[in-house]
Amino acid sequence: MSNLIPLAYSRRRLLREGGLFAGCLGMPALLGRAVAQPAPTLPGGIAFPTPPPPPLRTDGVLPNPDLTLLRSRVARTRPHRKGGVRLELDPEPLAAASGPKYIIHNYGHSGAGITLSWGCAAATVSLCEDVIERLKQASRQPRVAVIGTGVVGLTVATELRARWRQLPVTIYAKNLDVRATTSYAAGGQFEPSIIMREYQASADLERVRGWLRQSYQRIKGIQLSGNREKFGVAERLNYTLDHQSSGFQALVDAGIIDAPATGLLPFSKLGEQPGRAYKTFLMNPTILLPRLVADLRERDVRFRTKVFVSREQIANELGENIIINCTGLGAKVLCPEDTLDGQHRLQGKRGHLVILRKNNPRQFYFLSGGCSDEEISYVFCRQNDIVIGGSVVNASDDTDDETFSENDRALCDNVQAKAEAFLAGNLDLCNSLMQKSHALWPRP
Ligand SMILES: Cc1cc2nc3c(=O)[nH]c(=O)nc-3n(C[C@H](O)[C@H](O)[C@H](O)COP(=O)(O)OP(=O)(O)OC[C@H]3O[C@@H](n4cnc5c(N)ncnc54)[C@H](O)[C@@H]3O)c2cc1C
Repeated sequence: MSNLIPLAYSRRRLLREGGLFAGCLGMPALLGRAVAQPAPTLPGGIAFPTPPPPPLRTDGVLPNPDLTLLRSRVARTRPHRKGGVRLELDPEPLAAASGPKYIIHNYGHSGAGITLSWGCAAATVSLCEDVIERLKQASRQPRVAVIGTGVVGLTVATELRARWRQLPVTIYAKNLDVRATTSYAAGGQFEPSIIMREYQASADLERVRGWLRQSYQRIKGIQLSGNREKFGVAERLNYTLDHQSSGFQALVDAGIIDAPATGLLPFSKLGEQPGRAYKTFLMNPTILLPRLVADLRERDVRFRTKVFVSREQIANELGENIIINCTGLGAKVLCPEDTLDGQHRLQGKRGHLVILRKNNPRQFYFLSGGCSDEEISYVFCRQNDIVIGGSVVNASDDTDDETFSENDRALCDNVQAKAEAFLAGNLDLCNSLMQKSHALWPRP
């Protein structure tokens, strides 16, 4: 981190070098000039050549991943929801013989479930407080069922246990092996990817900013607590070309992270390219999820395998009176009423990852943004591996995460080829491969 050159320094350096250059030509230095002065020119009115921006690091280039060190390839489907995350107490409690059961929904986190998880979990706990109060007034003992063992369900259960040590909490899921979840396959970068397009002109922008702020503070708390290795948390610099990246911009606009430093990128074939460096976090789901499960088991949270196909089944078969729906894309079946213009709001956005072994201790960076504006092609160096990703393709309704299809194979090839072209500095090839990826998936 200490090698990052902040924007203020680069501006100073630009001024200094501009001044030195002017001095060589026998012209007055620029430093200290009033802003209103006309820009100095070379004889004949030719504009000064702009000195190159300074490098973003002073300790040499960062090593590229070795693309031959393949570990595995995966494909999973992000639970994108039109209108953004659904986080609310369902206005219609479920009718049951023992009295009404309350459902709180927390699903539809798109490409940002890892990022939003802790903030949304805190908001879910607040909703639970109100329901618990209501149950107590009716002399009913609160008992909670969390459905889902992805990052959303596990962080909710963790925050519930932190708030109420004795509250009975059971986690249900169709598969208790967390490796089967979408969350486990995520890259793990703190950045609200894809989802911000649902909040651009929305009255809910402040709401999502609040969740992001709370998540960031929670992750920072883990980082500072000395537990970062246990939870898979690490600070990371994310390098991009000097392009727009709406996810990071949303964090900067909300005052959660600083504006990026700018300068030349620290990669051998991209060293002539101006870029940006954002400070963010890695929260590695392959470390985080098993850890949360182990901690919850230790704190008397029970785990049960169960598949739900309807709300009636939830009402009839669960003994709990507070149900927290963290089923991600599974909510499409459980909440058929969640529609907009006649279509279900949940839409699968398929993503592909190529996972590599690390072979150099200086592989501790994120490189993202791909080769053009708003692209999400990325290389994330994690604690134990390197993930290459960046595909976002519409999934048809029958796409399931268990199947790795021929299209998935082709898209993994494409993701890898894009990263290779990007790291080789061949941005035209990278862009043409991006276009090709759009043709590789049947769109509904
Ligand atoms: C390739 C890829 C990379 C990503 N990278 C990032 C990243 O870097 N940063 C980031 O913030 N986000 C990232 N994401 C997005 C993130 O993975 C998702 O937003 C997140 O996993 C959603 O979490 P979830 O807990 O809601 O869903 P899931 O992880 O899908 O969990 C859903 C749970 O519900 C259970 N369930 C579903 N239906 C039922 C049912 N009917 N009955 C019983 N149980 C049910 C499932 O078994 C599972 O346990 C990425 C996603 C992909 C695909």
